[in-house]
Amino acid sequence: MIFLLLIFNFLQHSLTTPHQYDYIITGAGCAGLSLAVHMIRSGRFGDKSILLVDKEQKNRNDRTWCFWETKPGLFEDIVYKKWDIAWFHGEEYSKQMDIRPYQYKLIRGIDFYNYATGLIREQKNFTMLTGQVENMASTASETSITVDGQKFFAQYIFNSILFQKPALKRNEYWLLQHFKGWIIETDKPSFNSSEATLMDFRTSQQYGTAFVYCMPFSANRTLVEYTLFTHELLKEEQYEEQLKDYVERWLGIQAYRVAEEEFGAIPMTTHRFPSRRNNIIYIGTAGGQTKASSGYTFSFIQKHSAAIVDRLVNEKSPVVAMSKSRFRFYDNTLLHILHHNTLPGRRIFTDLFKKNKPQQVLRFLDNESSILNELKIISSLPTWPFLRAALRQL
Ligand SMILES: Cc1cc2nc3c(=O)[nH]c(=O)nc-3n(C[C@H](O)[C@H](O)[C@H](O)COP(=O)(O)OP(=O)(O)OC[C@H]3O[C@@H](n4cnc5c(N)ncnc54)[C@H](O)[C@@H]3O)c2cc1C
Repeated sequence: MIFLLLIFNFLQHSLTTPHQYDYIITGAGCAGLSLAVHMIRSGRFGDKSILLVDKEQKNRNDRTWCFWETKPGLFEDIVYKKWDIAWFHGEEYSKQMDIRPYQYKLIRGIDFYNYATGLIREQKNFTMLTGQVENMASTASETSITVDGQKFFAQYIFNSILFQKPALKRNEYWLLQHFKGWIIETDKPSFNSSEATLMDFRTSQQYGTAFVYCMPFSANRTLVEYTLFTHELLKEEQYEEQLKDYVERWLGIQAYRVAEEEFGAIPMTTHRFPSRRNNIIYIGTAGGQTKASSGYTFSFIQKHSAAIVDRLVNEKSPVVAMSKSRFRFYDNTLLHILHHNTLPGRRIFTDLFKKNKPQQVLRFLDNESSILNELKIISSLPTWPFLRAALRQL
């Protein structure tokens, strides 16, 4: 009898034994894959079982990441193109900038996905799963996710899935940065591939703050991306109209073909995304790594991933302190202005680049500037609208 009971117990246990991992990473986009690569490259996680889940196979070139750095980063091998010279075109103002020691770098989504998933597949301790994460929970006793009806448990979940727009508090702003990009090709040499255009505000501002950036890969091939900071998305044909107009008018090209397209929207918000819920640790855009005033995320994700890995290696909780509050304050002040439209975005960015060295602006946008540097930057912007918006933030 006891023997039968033991067998029954054993069977019951093995049939219901949960899938247990040390860590689960939900979302294999920029943040999930970056965290995995940082873990692998540290060489300190070989004894940890790690599950990585995404609903997609990550085999589409769905986005392009631009960022700047002064040294080769972890993803240097897959940098598709980099530039020392960058242009800014603003309100009746243009500036060619030598940004060294920074380099403006571009990584294609597909190269990033292939590189990261290739590396992960070589690791015995990683499992990759394609499925829809339906739910996740963390209590004092257990932390789990449900994927297509199946439950998986872990000590920590690192989550980059933004399941829904968060409920906003009164006075929190939620704008969208949305963009439509084309990779265009020409038969005749048409581009100077050693110079990128970071922001070109000569495009129409009829829908709100809007600019184009242009990243030439060669004399015949460039990425040209129309970007807006507004409350609502546009219709597809409106993005295309603006891109067409920009290519013809400002690049001076009539004959070209669109080889690839990308579209995306990310939040620019004063909302504070959570850094954790018990043992669910938020990463990527869902963890507040998108800079609210610029939309740049890639570099912040890298710094966040490195900090998480460092804390885990040192047996500390993987919750990383959020960026310094003064940077949130600057971001929120700018968003306040954009939300209430008290100053055109084009004017603000023109003053920013016109009156400051590009290296200082890039450091500021990286949240790595000194207070002295910040005072200089702030004093270069229109005083009253910023002061009013800053007081409202306080
Ligand atoms: C077109 C585009 C261009 C951008 N360009 C730049 C740039 O130049 N520079 C820059 O710094 N930032 C840029 N960004 C912003 C930011 O870097 C990216 O959005 C980045 O991908 C954010 O990383 P993430 O991991 O938070 O989100 P994502 O990369 O979107 O990853 C989230 C993952 O979760 C998966 N997922 C979602 N729901 C579920 C579910 N229920 N179950 C399972 N999986 C799920 C998705 O398939 C996705 O793979 C851009 C964004 C877009 C959209």
